[in-house]
Amino acid sequence: MKKWKACLFLLLVFMFISSSAFAASSTEYIKVRMNGSTSSVMTVPVIVNGKLVNTNDPSFILGSTTYVPMSFISDHCGGTVEWNESTKTATIKVDNKEIKITVDSSNVYVNNNKQVIDSKLVPKMATYDYGSSNARVRTVVPLRLIAQLLGYDISFDEAKCTPVINKVTNNNGNSGNNQSDNPNNNQSNIVNTVKEIKKETVNGREAIVIYKTNNVEINQQKLTGPVRLVFDLKASVLTGGGYYQYAISIGAVKGVRVSQFTSDVVRVVLDIKDGINNPEVEVINYKDKLILIPKDAPKETPQKPSIIISIDAGHGGYDPGATNNPYKEKDINLQVALKLNNALKKLGYDIIMTRDSDVFVELNDRANIANNNNSNIFISLHCNSFTDSSAHGLEVYYCPPEKSPVKEEDSKPLAQMVYDELIKSTGAKARGVKEATFVVIKNTKMPAILIEMGFISNNEEANKLITDSYQNKIVEGIINGVQKYFNTYNK
Ligand SMILES: [Zn+2]
Repeated sequence: MKKWKACLFLLLVFMFISSSAFAASSTEYIKVRMNGSTSSVMTVPVIVNGKLVNTNDPSFILGSTTYVPMSFISDHCGGTVEWNESTKTATIKVDNKEIKITVDSSNVYVNNNKQVIDSKLVPKMATYDYGSSNARVRTVVPLRLIAQLLGYDISFDEAKCTPVINKVTNNNGNSGNNQSDNPNNNQSNIVNTVKEIKKETVNGREAIVIYKTNNVEINQQKLTGPVRLVFDLKASVLTGGGYYQYAISIGAVKGVRVSQFTSDVVRVVLDIKDGINNPEVEVINYKDKLILIPKDAPKETPQKPSIIISIDAGHGGYDPGATNNPYKEKDINLQVALKLNNALKKLGYDIIMTRDSDVFVELNDRANIANNNNSNIFISLHCNSFTDSSAHGLEVYYCPPEKSPVKEEDSKPLAQMVYDELIKSTGAKARGVKEATFVVIKNTKMPAILIEMGFISNNEEANKLITDSYQNKIVEGIINGVQKYFNTYNK
């Protein structure tokens, strides 16, 4: 009984976690009134002789007891049931036995011999409350009592939280053989085991992958009310038997269930979202896996190999760079660097900042930071200054490999692309792409550029450079150039 309680708890935890995914499905969680109080109870499928059975009113777990409706006996255990309403007694005839059980009574009669049963095995009246005016009163019987009286082994797969009952067969074979199993079904034709189901990416699409061990015939059908797609794998068993639910939601699919449907059929069910009547699923069948890709499965964002960009905000700390009171170049450089960092990170790039606060960093250290972090490109941000305050506009510098002791690649394409996009996004005066041997672009091994974003010595340009809106235009231009560069050079 302890195990059952633990399972109930796990079930509840599981349903709580996945309740959003299964909120729209019908029978996992219902209200039942019993012994004068109403409880929310988990419904459970029951496996009888290897076959998953469903009843009109579902089986459920209350406390530590699994209850099944009385009709379970006639529908699935090969017995007949007569009901006496005045005494609330059921007379069950099965296997040449006559069994009388009574609601709320621990007295049970088997061929008129009285047995006293455990109070937890007592049959009950239960009201299945399906909401509004839809309620049904039913006699429910603990599954364990049925197993005990009718000669079934009962087990409970703790991992799957599924009750399983199997008819105990006598050696002489005269025990009830009137089960609903197809007599052609037997374990000897099992050739495949369904192991597990996972959500994975296949061919760049989200997919449901059913791991199995062999090729078998698979019957596919659409069922309605509610709409679901069913895949029956023949000659198959499900590891551990039982019944699983997965909160897998891909496109039209809102959940996946798998069960040992009959003794040799494993059924996979894709529950379909409300309002979708003709879901389409691409089926790919390999020996070791069955792949189901909903047609509207989102494409996985292409896995870019990690691209590392070093951003270098010029100057800092005691070195203000160029100034035009009250503006300091180091502040503008850092503001743009931080904005660029955020924007590039959102695009999935990995960013190294040579500084992200108002500190001084040696020029050689800046180059080393980029080199030591295997940066793919290096971008240094500066503002220009000139004695003639009318000078204005934007320029981008790079160092040709022949003028650098370490550079392995040509930086000019990066400089040109970023420059072109910057002129487009800012509308600044185009002063050109130029060569230089500044330490940070000379001593960096990777393609490196130094952007003079504008002249702080020009009052008009300085007043633009300090604004968020103009800084955002600069960031936009750099990003467009960088993306064009990586698209072109396919890094
Ligand atoms: Zn500078």
